[in-house]
Amino acid sequence: MIPMSLAQVAAVTGGKLSETADPEAVVTGGVEFDSRKAGPGGLFLAIPGAKVDGHDFAAKAHEQGAVATIATRPVDVPAVYVDDAVAALTRLAKHIAANAKVRIIGVTGSNGKTSTKDLIGQLCARLGPTVATEANFNNELGHPYTVCRTTPETEYLVLELAARGLGHITQLCEIAPPSIGVVLNVGISHLDGFGSIETTAKAKSELPQALGPDGTVFLNADDPRVAAMAGLTDATAWSFGVREKADIRAEDVDPGDGRHAFTLVTPAGSARVQLKLWGDHHVYNALAAAGVLWKLGATPEEIAEGLAESGRLSERRMDVFTRPDGTVVIDDSYNANPASMGAAVRALGLLPTEGRRIAVLGLMADLEELEEECHRRLGEQARDAGIDEVIAVGEGTQPIIDGADGVTATHVPDQAAAIALLENRLRPGDAVLVKGSRYRTWDVADHLRAKEE
Ligand code: ATP
Ligand code: MG
Repeated sequence: MIPMSLAQVAAVTGGKLSETADPEAVVTGGVEFDSRKAGPGGLFLAIPGAKVDGHDFAAKAHEQGAVATIATRPVDVPAVYVDDAVAALTRLAKHIAANAKVRIIGVTGSNGKTSTKDLIGQLCARLGPTVATEANFNNELGHPYTVCRTTPETEYLVLELAARGLGHITQLCEIAPPSIGVVLNVGISHLDGFGSIETTAKAKSELPQALGPDGTVFLNADDPRVAAMAGLTDATAWSFGVREKADIRAEDVDPGDGRHAFTLVTPAGSARVQLKLWGDHHVYNALAAAGVLWKLGATPEEIAEGLAESGRLSERRMDVFTRPDGTVVIDDSYNANPASMGAAVRALGLLPTEGRRIAVLGLMADLEELEEECHRRLGEQARDAGIDEVIAVGEGTQPIIDGADGVTATHVPDQAAAIALLENRLRPGDAVLVKGSRYRTWDVADHLRAKEE
């Protein structure tokens, strides 16, 4: 956090200091709502959760050195009393964003926000001290929490902006107004929250709309709904893509073994890029990241070098590992929707293997009336990608098998049955993709990982 006295914290949050709180005590650490992380010089935010009440941990945070607890009910330690803990955190974040000298970069889209934010975060860190959203901390709580991690040294603040409905991204941008934005795509994800793809597009367009005339936005040229957002923003809009003649584009794309290579073309020149990440979707994520880094002054060569070294993404996203018996596993079990399933299946199809390619595919959740058609299309994609065997897991996944006409395909009721079937089928040298949402397909990935060295 940016150092603030408790008196300032109270003023910014509209809170009241307890008698035991020293108004002059200075907060130098971060704001934590998990008492295990609350450390010396920081603030502890007591959130009354469904299972545990943060207030019960105020004493522990105090013992660990927290300067004060932000609380909504009496605690026995120095406190800043507020009416609403998350609102207080939000006010703090707003204050910090307004007073820090940081470039704020916001990333949104239906798919790939976390991956792209991770890429941009890793590339920015090569230029200067960077704070980026951890994992998926992208909502009303995670967003201000991330902003509060800004320190006086921070130069780049990279934020994943998620929307569960209209107005959400506008709110997040009001807390920490980005000067650079990225809209990756508008796809079928979280449809239950939006109702229609048009509403999803509207929600994502709140990012370009939040940018002022000094801002810059990078828009996916190959996604018409995103490209159209150029007309809705006062910021300078640049396009990125593969198919169109975009400002930031990939030419001569070579799929390789699933880790794509391409020539990155920018207005400042070009450079050959070899990605460390698996799957064609990361070409787009890398182009978006390249645009941002170009805007921040990196040369195409520096960007290419950074991308070649960026291989660490958040958990369970195209995580490829080899087991001692030589079986290769792609764990992409974090979540699933039609775009990301297609990309993962194509990556499996490209993966070099002496054995067979097996896709363990769970349900893509929240597709409503599109569910059956999307699952059937996934089966077709698996067939077209050259997958040898499909294991469809759980209710609603039968259409995958119907679509994967001609491919060995089995439907199993749950992940335990999928594990049992795999145990029986897997031969050294085979390659396995594990992906799905809701049905906890990651149990299957964890089972396979347990045998990893
Ligand atoms: P969430 O909405 O859950 O926060 P997200 O937008 O942050 O998701 P990621 O976590 O980066 O996205 O990736 C989710 C899934 O989408 C993963 O399976 C990943 O491999 C895939 N994916 C990543 N980038 C893209 C992309 N540009 N297009 C399609 N799928 C993608
Ligand atoms: Mg995410």
